[in-house]
Amino acid sequence: MGSMPIYLDHHATTPVDPRVFDAMLPFFRGEFGNPASFHAYGQQAREAVERARSQVASLLNVSERSVIFTSGATESNNLALKGLMLASPPGSHLVVTAAEHRSVLDVAKRLERWGHTVTIVPVDALGRIDPSDVAKAITPKTRVVSVIAANNEVGTLNPLRTIGQLCRDHGVLFHTDATQWLGKLPLDCDALPIDLLSASAHKLYGPKGVGLLMVRRLGPRIRLEPLFDGGGHEQHLRSGTLPVPLIVGFGAAAEVAAREMADEAVRTATLRDRFYGSLSARLAGLLMNGHPAERLPGNLNLSFEGVDGEALMTGLTGIAVSSGSACTTSDPEPSHVLRAMGRSDRLARASLRFGIGRGTTEAEIDDAVDEVAAVVIRLRELGRSH
Ligand code: PMP
Repeated sequence: MGSMPIYLDHHATTPVDPRVFDAMLPFFRGEFGNPASFHAYGQQAREAVERARSQVASLLNVSERSVIFTSGATESNNLALKGLMLASPPGSHLVVTAAEHRSVLDVAKRLERWGHTVTIVPVDALGRIDPSDVAKAITPKTRVVSVIAANNEVGTLNPLRTIGQLCRDHGVLFHTDATQWLGKLPLDCDALPIDLLSASAHKLYGPKGVGLLMVRRLGPRIRLEPLFDGGGHEQHLRSGTLPVPLIVGFGAAAEVAAREMADEAVRTATLRDRFYGSLSARLAGLLMNGHPAERLPGNLNLSFEGVDGEALMTGLTGIAVSSGSACTTSDPEPSHVLRAMGRSDRLARASLRFGIGRGTTEAEIDDAVDEVAAVVIRLRELGRSH
């Protein structure tokens, strides 16, 4: 393989931090025990899992008992919403938003097939949820409201405190998918009215295949049905032998994030602003998607006027980014988030998500600007000569 493109897709996944990798290694070697075993191997593994639990609990500012380890945020979203609705009478109601990840939207669709009802709250042109729309959607049958904390495409941050408080005022549970938020910005669950929260280690420089569901333990008990039956691990909510190396990696990643998050947010936001500043000085017809200020520090999402989305993606060979469409199918669908924000199909397709992360350098940003500017200028010239 030739040299790899510049990685600007940190919302899709992040590389494992070398410090995280080092922390995980012993658990692939001598310290291989099953944390459920009684003997010394088991005890060693159990201690490692509990240390990791306390590291992630401390990043969230919750008690260790609130943390249920899962295989990732997809599972956490499934466990939160199906788990609550399975414990609710048929015909119960759930509120989600138009800007959710598929692992919430598709769960909502399935819950409808299971006999529950769903309301999808819209987003505004900046990708934000208006708390008054959430309030309007709540009915006497509503069990839970699920709102994405930081959008994975446009980076927009939602007003979690206001939405959580109004859920509490209505006696409804509040779940948030904080997969993109955790480890990037502070998240004090003790100070926020959040009942359930999903996250995933591979978005914060931890390994793939491990995540968590935070279930608030203070206040009235939250009743969840497990999705797996088995050995009763994780307080009977998630049976299955714990993936000790992955959990240890999640803990180490959380500890690094807690220490470095504030500086990293400043650094990635500075690089993002440098990227946008240089690119907009070189190109007209750039539209920024998402909220100008209330957004993830490393996120930039742009629509390019006058270019074809597919030609743009295939032309950009020197950088690894995501497009504003689901390009896994032969007929790419424009992003449901950009469409919900009011972008046309054409502009939604001609959009790129840049995700700047821990390893991104100034030189990479400058090279990426050169590449994007050159490709867009070339495509626009080609378009004019046709
Ligand atoms: N929610 C959001 C907001 C995400 O960005 C992602 C990952 N793309 C997920 C859920 C799913 O996470 P996982 O890969 O851990 O299943």
